[in-house]
Amino acid sequence: MSTTTREIRLASRPDGEPTEENFELAEVEIGEPGAGEMLVRNSYLSVDPYMRGRMRDVKSYIPPFQIGAALDGGAVGQVVASNGGQLEEGAWVQHLAGWREHSVIDGGYPVDPSVAPISTALGVLGMPGLTAYAGLTDVAPIKEGETVYVSAAAGAVGSAAGQIARLRGCRVIGSAGSPEKVAWLTDELGFDAAFKYKETPVAEALREHTPKGIDVYFDNVGGDHLEAALDSMRMFGRIALCGSISEYESAPEGPRNLFLATAKHLRLTGFRGSLHLDLLEEMQALLGPWLLDGSVTYPETVYDGLAQAPQALADMLAGRTTGKTLVRL
Ligand code: NDP
Repeated sequence: MSTTTREIRLASRPDGEPTEENFELAEVEIGEPGAGEMLVRNSYLSVDPYMRGRMRDVKSYIPPFQIGAALDGGAVGQVVASNGGQLEEGAWVQHLAGWREHSVIDGGYPVDPSVAPISTALGVLGMPGLTAYAGLTDVAPIKEGETVYVSAAAGAVGSAAGQIARLRGCRVIGSAGSPEKVAWLTDELGFDAAFKYKETPVAEALREHTPKGIDVYFDNVGGDHLEAALDSMRMFGRIALCGSISEYESAPEGPRNLFLATAKHLRLTGFRGSLHLDLLEEMQALLGPWLLDGSVTYPETVYDGLAQAPQALADMLAGRTTGKTLVRL
């Protein structure tokens, strides 16, 4: 028996912000899962900045999407048929074959819906949470009392990173693109200070908010943000190079002051959360209870229906969403 389902395909490669024309919503038939496979009905799709990079035809750590082929991305869903697969029918699973209503997969990460809403498996208890946690524990470890700056702080990774640093006793400064996000960072998430990078040059804002300098910079943006942070870093500071979203749609603007890393004996370390899966359980054991007792606030911007996925991606990249951006099916 086959299932009629729908998927999002790449129709053309965007120049700048992706638009509707770059995507195609296609109907397809998928067959029974093969031996060892599971058929999953997806409930939430993850909308992530790296997907913009995969729309370009360039070699990276992950292959580019192909024109005419379905995109894939993070998803969480329920197993509707298992042909001797990892999980039984009815189980919930997080996997990477999303951006379609149904997926046939040969493995994934089990999700326990009794712990927290299943959508958090794509957010605070999933890859964004893991990336934030790995960045601040293994890559650029924080210590109580230190000053931590987080860029793109109102996003999925940034909001988790800022709250982890706060709950670990750090002074936390965040930047974001709108006054609403800036107010939310200080009023709801407990950041000590926040600023709108579109209004005040980042270097100036950092001098004002971190007069004694920054110990740890969690870098989600690259470019001008990284250049400004280098200026304000204290001796022996650490920078977790998590992402460079300012460079995904246009050429990089800096940093032009990398020598400061030498002068201040800084440690800049690039990393991918997905290579720190050994920390996943530890992160979930820490953040799960914080989420349930309200110590951590974790908002989502949710779009309904597969057809909304391209708009969700464009909105997330342009800063029109807050927290984790998801598509609910
Ligand atoms: P977010 O939820 O933070 O969404 C991206 C946000 O980035 C936008 O909403 C926007 O918010 C901000 N932004 C966009 N363009 C710019 C710009 N030019 N300058 C400053 N800010 C900008 O996404 P994620 O939390 O999923 O990802 C955040 C970063 O972390 C990205 O760089 C991503 O690539 C990286 N990442 C890295 C991982 C890893 O393993 N290393 C894993 C996951 C993500 P605003 O309104 O504030 O401008």
